[in-house]
Amino acid sequence: MQQVLRKLPAVHELQKHPDANRLRETYSLSEKALTKVIKSQLDAVREDILQKKGTVEDPSTNEFIDTFFKKVETCIASQYSPRLKRIINATGTVLHTNLGRARLSEKAIEQMVLVARNYSNVEYKISNGSRGSRHDIAEELIKEVTGAEAAMVVNNNAAAVFLILSAFGKGREVVVSRGELVEIGGSFRISSIMEESGAILREVGTTNKTRISDYEKAISDETAMLLKVHTSNFKVIGFTESVASEELFALAKSQHLISYEDLGSGALFDFSAYGIGDEPLVRESIEKGADLVSFSGDKLLGGPQAGIIAGRKDLIDKLKKHQLARVLRVDKMTFAALEATLLEYAKGSGLEKNIPTIRDIIATDADIEERVQQFIAHLRETELELDYFICNDESTIGGGTMPGVEIPTVCIGLKMDGLTAEETHRKLRCGEPPVIGKIKDDLFWLDLRTVTNEELPEIVDAIVSIKK
Ligand SMILES: *Cc1c(COP(=O)(O)O)cnc(C)c1O
Repeated sequence: MQQVLRKLPAVHELQKHPDANRLRETYSLSEKALTKVIKSQLDAVREDILQKKGTVEDPSTNEFIDTFFKKVETCIASQYSPRLKRIINATGTVLHTNLGRARLSEKAIEQMVLVARNYSNVEYKISNGSRGSRHDIAEELIKEVTGAEAAMVVNNNAAAVFLILSAFGKGREVVVSRGELVEIGGSFRISSIMEESGAILREVGTTNKTRISDYEKAISDETAMLLKVHTSNFKVIGFTESVASEELFALAKSQHLISYEDLGSGALFDFSAYGIGDEPLVRESIEKGADLVSFSGDKLLGGPQAGIIAGRKDLIDKLKKHQLARVLRVDKMTFAALEATLLEYAKGSGLEKNIPTIRDIIATDADIEERVQQFIAHLRETELELDYFICNDESTIGGGTMPGVEIPTVCIGLKMDGLTAEETHRKLRCGEPPVIGKIKDDLFWLDLRTVTNEELPEIVDAIVSIKK
C-alpha cells in the first residue's frame, strides 16, 4: 500500500499536466483555485488507497491520470456552478415560497436585465440633472393601481410591517385582534415583529371572536394604532366574528389613531371574479378608509420580492424619512421588475396573459388537461414503456395566500419500474434541471399548472434519463 501511495504524482506535477491547463482555461480558474481542487482530489485518492476502497489503478499509468482529471473536472463543475439553480416546479403550487414564489413577467425580466447591464436613473432626475429619489420610481404607479395618496417600497412585507410599527408604534400600544396574530412560514410572527419594533402589543378579543367594543375598551392614552392583519395563511371557520374593516378604520379615525392593515398578499387583480378565493383588493382597503396598508410584491401581485406601503401622504412622508427606510431600501433590480409589473396593472389589459402568477392561478382544469395531453404526446415520442395515470386533483396557491382555496387541476402520475414514488422523486430532483413534483397515494405526481409548454420536453428528457 505504501508503494502505491509513493507512486501518486505530486501536486506540482499535476499542475503542469496539459489537462490542468485545459481545465483552467475552460472554467476560467486561477492557479490557486485549481490547485485546491487537485489537492482535495489527491487526498480523496489517498484515502481510497488507505481504505482499499474500490479498485485503485496504478497511479503511474496514463489511465490513472485521465480518471484523476475527470474527477477533478466533475468537482470543478459542481463547485463552481451557482448554488441557486433553475428548477422545474411541477407541484402546481403557484407561489411556492421554497421555490422562489412568483415567476416574473417577460417585461419585468427585460427591465431587470436592462438595468443590470447599464447605468440607470435610479436616483437621478434626467430633466434637470439633479439628484432624484428612488421612491419616485414606483410611487405614481402604486397610487394609480391602489387609489392611495402616497406610497413607498421596502425590502419585503415583513420589513413594511416592521417599519410602520417602529415609526408609529414604538413605546406605545398597537391594538390587534387575537384572531389575527398570524405566523407565516415559521419565521414571521406579527407578535415577534412587534416586539422587535418596540411597539407594545395589545391583544383583544378571542381567537374566533372579536367585536368593535373589544377595540373600544382597549383604547387608552397609550394607544398609537389599530392594526388589522389579513389572516392570509389560515382560516378560522365555524363560530367566528370579526370586525368589518370600515368599522375598525372609522373607530381609529374618530379616536385620532392610525389605522393600518397588513394585507399580506394584497391582490390588485380580482381573482374572485374567476371564482377563486375572496382575497381583499388593496384598492378596497384604501376606499374603506385604512390610513396605511402594506402587502408583498411577490405573492398575488406576481412581481419581485418587495414590501409595498400605500396610504396617507403625511404618514408615508414620515416613513420615507425614517432611518430604517434606508436600511430596508430596495435595489434598482427590484425597482426595475416591480415597476414593469405595476405598469401591466396600470395598463389593465392582458394581465391574464402577461403576469405568470395570474395566468397560472386562473388556468382551468381544462387548460391543464390540454397540457397533460401535450406531455403525453411528448412521452409517446420516446417510445418509453411507462405506466401513467391521469387524475383530477387540486392545486394550491401557496406563499401563505388564499388558505383553503383549491383550484381544480389534472395531474399525471408516473409509475417507474422498480422504483418507489420517493425514489422516482429523488431521481428527478437530482437531475438537471431538478424536477419537483408531489407524492400522493404512493405515486409520484406532476401537476402541470406551474409548468410551461417549453418545459414539457425537459421533464420527458428527465424521465428518459432515469429509465436508462
Ligand atoms: C406573507 C405575509 C407577510 C410577510 O410578507 P413577505 O413579503 O414574505 O415578507 C406579512 N404579513 C402577512 C399577513 C403575510 O401574509
